[in-house]
Amino acid sequence: MTAQLSVSAPLFTRRRTRLVRIGHVAVGSATPVAVQSMTNTDTADVAATVAQAAELARAGSELVRITVNNEDAARAVPHIRERLAAQGVDVPLVGDFHYNGHTLLGKYPACAEALAKLRINPGNVGAGARRDAQFASIIELAMRHAKPVRIGVNWGSLDPSVLARVLDENASRATPLPVGAVMREALVASALESAAQAESIGLAADRIVLSAKVSSVRDLIAVYRELARRCEYPLHLGLTEAGMGSKGIVASTAALAVLLEEGIGDTIRVSLTPEPGGSRAQEVVVAQEILQTMGLRAFAPMVTACPGCGRTGSTFFQALAAHIQRHVRERMPQWRERYDGVENMTLAVMGCVVNGPGESRHANIGISLPGTGEAPAAPVFVDGRKTVTLRGDNIAAEFTALVDDYVASRYARRSA
Ligand code: SF4
Repeated sequence: MTAQLSVSAPLFTRRRTRLVRIGHVAVGSATPVAVQSMTNTDTADVAATVAQAAELARAGSELVRITVNNEDAARAVPHIRERLAAQGVDVPLVGDFHYNGHTLLGKYPACAEALAKLRINPGNVGAGARRDAQFASIIELAMRHAKPVRIGVNWGSLDPSVLARVLDENASRATPLPVGAVMREALVASALESAAQAESIGLAADRIVLSAKVSSVRDLIAVYRELARRCEYPLHLGLTEAGMGSKGIVASTAALAVLLEEGIGDTIRVSLTPEPGGSRAQEVVVAQEILQTMGLRAFAPMVTACPGCGRTGSTFFQALAAHIQRHVRERMPQWRERYDGVENMTLAVMGCVVNGPGESRHANIGISLPGTGEAPAAPVFVDGRKTVTLRGDNIAAEFTALVDDYVASRYARRSA
């Protein structure tokens, strides 16, 4: 009987969206999905905010959001922009406004000018009768300064008037929808109605980005599918309040991966709570790794390593895998400047002969360490061929040198 060769990769189709320019970064349309992050410093503390924004940008964040919550913060923004520029960091800054954005942007035009985008939350623009006027003020200020706006709805601060209306509409249905569905519809309606309101005030459609963040993975997927179905604004994805450590990473990845695979999402942020003393830049690395492991973008060489098992001779291969992953991350700033395509390189560090040689052959460069009972030898594979066998106490340093040599010889130096 003839085998049926019917296994094919699914076609990836990006959702059609408008192109929006945020400073020098274009998002939407066919542009690569951009990585965003947000500082957690007091924006009024210029030195601390500059240091963290620079750290996030150097880690690869393509947009950095800062909160602008009071007059001191608004006064600080132009100085933050200037100091970043003096360090050669041109990452666009996004100002995050709640409650008093209309006042701050009006009183501090230099703040508005220094920002590349304004983020407002329709649920926090103002209460009652003041809401529409304050929303209009912010949109008019965005137009005056030629800035795009992200209308960012959040589950935790949903516009109460929209929610009340959607609840009333649901109550009048012959068969009311469950509460969860009503809440999701209220989120979508709040985002779309606010965008329509902004356009009616005069903000161009290609100056609008939408987001609608919730903290439940399945709700987030449902909300963004609906937004994607009903508009062509670029969408910023993120699971809000994702949490700490592995929980935050897993929840964000589960939500974002489903949507990205469906072609939904033009920018992403992974909202991790940092460990005390941990680097804020971890959220950038995780966002990059989500995009890279899905094959949507490449940022840095990735190391394939087996999990180890009873055949593993020692924890040496784990240490080597961690060392190599750290090494390539540390080298990337220089490699990126000197070598074209190095971010696509794949490496393998494997624990024994079972899958070691095979996995190493699939990588650009890989090493198969000896498992229990194997001869103390570690064959190295380069572009699918065994090139050398390492032995002795210096395997880590020798393999690292082979990786560096491979990068220098395989990836063309950029022309000046
Ligand atoms: S490659 Fe070898 S050591 Fe690694 S998990 Fe597989 S069998 Fe275990």
